[in-house]
Amino acid sequence: MTLVDYHVHTARCGHASGELKDYLQKAREAGLGEIGFADHLPMYFLPVEERDPGIAMAEEKLPDYVQEVMALKAEAEKMGGTVVRLGIEADYVPGHEEKLRQLLRSYPFDYVIGSVHFLDGWGFDNLHYLDGYERWDIDELYEYYFQRLMEAAGSGFFHIMAHPDLIKKFNFRPRRDMKELYRRVAKVFREAGVCAEVNTAGLRVPAKEIYPAYEFLVAFCESGVPVTLGSDAHQPEDVGYAFEQALRLIKEVGYREIATFRDGKKFAVRI
Ligand code: ZN
Ligand code: FE
Ligand code: FE
Ligand code: ZN
Repeated sequence: MTLVDYHVHTARCGHASGELKDYLQKAREAGLGEIGFADHLPMYFLPVEERDPGIAMAEEKLPDYVQEVMALKAEAEKMGGTVVRLGIEADYVPGHEEKLRQLLRSYPFDYVIGSVHFLDGWGFDNLHYLDGYERWDIDELYEYYFQRLMEAAGSGFFHIMAHPDLIKKFNFRPRRDMKELYRRVAKVFREAGVCAEVNTAGLRVPAKEIYPAYEFLVAFCESGVPVTLGSDAHQPEDVGYAFEQALRLIKEVGYREIATFRDGKKFAVRI
């Protein structure tokens, strides 16, 4: 059995450290079957002058990113061992689909990870904008977030939905029971044919819990939504972070395989 880490960032995004080769090195040491780079897509949904260089690479750097990952991919192939995949983490912001389509179709991504990090311009997973939580009723915020996530899943742009309950990051928890909403989201994922990401970054933030929550993962499994694995590493040391724990969780809820991607096509690996 060979695991994959499909969600790692590099210094290119302005808030991570390490170069591509450092991440590959760590993946080889960890014995991963595949490492997939998923640097943040340029902030295509904002005018160029409003884009934050500390959040994503500039648009003119995207071709370099793709080229460098492709070069490393070829090198890794010669070395044998851990395989390199070309991915990207793309925000879903309704109203900007044309631009997103244009960016994504220009490159041979093995997979595209879809994320919701912004709600009507509010970067709710950014420590600098925590005050935004005061403007919301927490249950309504969760409902709104998951609504946007379902739209993202149904948009057709993405193979994998990142950190599906990112809204819990700072440990602002809903009052109500989430099971029904989890089931609704899982059904939409299933119908859209997207895969859910089991992302261990949740363990490294105040929520202190893998994304998605146990009950959410149960809902995905019951609906037949495939899962894949990501550390969301922003430094080479975090490649494969807590994957034993993630694997235990995935098996415990009933999964027998994880999804892998090549050239936009999905495969399954037994676990
Ligand atoms: Zn990041
Ligand atoms: Fe993300
Ligand atoms: Fe990420
Ligand atoms: Zn992420």
